[in-house]
Order: sequence, then C-alpha cells, then structure tokens
Amino acid sequence: MTALLFLTLAAAPLEVRVLEREVPSRVHLEAARITCDGKPLPNVVDAEASVREVRVGTATCTQVIAEDEVSVTVKDTKRKYPGQIRVSLQGGLLRLINAVDVEAYLPSVVHAEADGSKPAALEAQAIVSRTFALTGQRRHANAGYHLCDLTHCQLYRGRAPSSPDAEAAVKKTAGQVLLIGGIVLKPAFFHSSCGGHTSTASDVFGEDASSSAVSDVENGAPRCHGPELAWTFEVEKKDLAQALGVAPTGAALEPLRRDKGGRILEVRSFARRFTGQEFLSRVGRAFGWRAVRSLKFSTTETDTTLRLDGAGTGHGVGMCQLGARALAEKGIDAKGILLRYFPDSQIKPAP
Ligand SMILES: [Zn+2]
Ligand SMILES: [Zn+2]
Repeated sequence: MTALLFLTLAAAPLEVRVLEREVPSRVHLEAARITCDGKPLPNVVDAEASVREVRVGTATCTQVIAEDEVSVTVKDTKRKYPGQIRVSLQGGLLRLINAVDVEAYLPSVVHAEADGSKPAALEAQAIVSRTFALTGQRRHANAGYHLCDLTHCQLYRGRAPSSPDAEAAVKKTAGQVLLIGGIVLKPAFFHSSCGGHTSTASDVFGEDASSSAVSDVENGAPRCHGPELAWTFEVEKKDLAQALGVAPTGAALEPLRRDKGGRILEVRSFARRFTGQEFLSRVGRAFGWRAVRSLKFSTTETDTTLRLDGAGTGHGVGMCQLGARALAEKGIDAKGILLRYFPDSQIKPAP
C-alpha cells in the first residue's frame, strides 16, 4: 500500500503555488508553448485577471498553460520555471501553479535552504526536501495544490537561483528518500537550528512523521553554534496581551509543559491556555516571525514587561540545518548526517 502510494506520488508532478506573495493581477509569460483552454497562443503573452476569466488580448480563458522552460514576470519579479505554469482566476487575482517534476523542483530548494554548505550537507538537504515534497501533497489540499513556494513549505524560486553544487547534490541523491524501518514513507522536516536538542513531529505538530528527539550537543555545546543561536525578545505586557487577544490580567507567560527537547508545548498567558504553536503564530503575526524564533526559551517578568531568552531558530523537528552543516564540515557524509537526526529511518531509493 505504502509502496503503491509512493509510486503514484513520484510519478505525478508536484503542483506548487508560486508568486502568491506578489499578488498577481497581470503576468507576462514567455514559453515554447502557450495555450488558452487548449487553443494555441503566441509564445509571448500578457495574461490579466478580469471579472470571470483570464484575459489574453481578446481571448478569454478558464486556464492558460505555458510549458517548457517558462519565463514568468509579475511586477518586478522575473523567474524561470521548469515544467508547466497554469494560470487561472481566483478571488479576482491570478493563481499560478507550477506543475513540476520533483527532481527539477529540488535544486532551487536545496540552494535556498543550504547554500554555502559542504556537499554532504547539500545531499542530506536534498534527501530530506525530496521526502518532504513527496509526502507534503496534502499541505494545501483544501486550496487545490500541493505546496507553496515559501518557508511554510520549502523555499522555491524556479530555475534560479540555483548552483552547480545544489544541482550535483540533487543528481547524486536522485530518487532517494527517508523510509521508516526501510519501508514507510512519512513526512521529513527540517529547521534552521535546534539549540542543542531536536523535538518530535508528534510533540510539536501532532503529526505522525519520520522524526525523533535527539541531542545535538558536541563537547558540551550545541553543534548548531553561531550568532543565530541565542536570541532575546522583550515586550510590554499590554502589547503581548493585545497580540494574543486577551485581557492583560494575571501572569504574562507561564510555560505549562515542555517536551524532551525543552520546547514549550503549552503555556498559560494572562489566564488563557495556548498550545506552543498557537502562541508562536499569534506573536509572529503581531511582532514579526523573527521576534520569537523558537519555543525553546525561559521567561523573566517585571511589572510591565516580559523578556524571553531563547535558543535556536525554527520548529526544532527533524534535521537541524546548522548542525548538518557543522557535521559536513567535519567530514561526515550525507548518510551519517541523516541517521543522526532521523535514527529510525533508512535512506532508500524509490521502492
Ligand atoms: Zn505551504
Ligand atoms: Zn542543532
């Protein structure tokens, strides 16, 4: 069953929503072949959102499809995409979906996520990102596509920027994924730096995935060391209460439950309970996503302010990217890196 599911996933192209942040109402397309509901259009067109359809000159289309090395320009952003770009109308704007083979999708992801790392860390990233992509097809199922092109899923910018190193890492690991027990394909996550210990997907997301909580300490210090490791966030209590949508009465923040990695799973804030993820997303929306960088922090409260002293960046599940980079620099190969962060997994080609 799992093998069958995997083959189905691997055979079908990924459908990645691209350039949503650019809020496209008009897009310039260049490609070897462009069609409007199956009827051929010129190789260079401007498509515009109109009331009920996509307009290209005098043609009105439900869907415009550009394929074969598509160049897409939205406002000041110009990108090239492998595979197909499908343009349709949604909520008065254009919706751009890139239907792309997973191996063609990966170099940009690996470059964006692990640029400048040694080959072993790039290869480890390629295997984790491939596993994530092939198992992530329900992440945006409600919206009718698989993945977005932002850090919510994986950063993806089409053909470029990429690098020969990222491309080599994808090629060298072609088709390889992480399988639990050598047979079961489950989502594999990664994050920027764990601060010394990773967390399980079931603790952090309530999700069944290929992840364990492992120590990432070497010689008494987190392997993912660097200027990013420690952070501080100080906030007026009244501003925090506003961000959380509660009245500013009671203690500003009491961690109620932590996991093995030291990440906060549940807090009480001004007499209301939040899961760690709820707390993080409300605070992120109000103060920016770089303000509270992880759920691994201690708190200091005064009469009017709250200070968080934290470690690491990101959710802490799966592979620690800075740790992987450090391991690669010590000469550990991709397999050694992956088995450290995913000890229950095996690296296998497509079953
Ligand atoms: Zn996403
Ligand atoms: Zn780490």
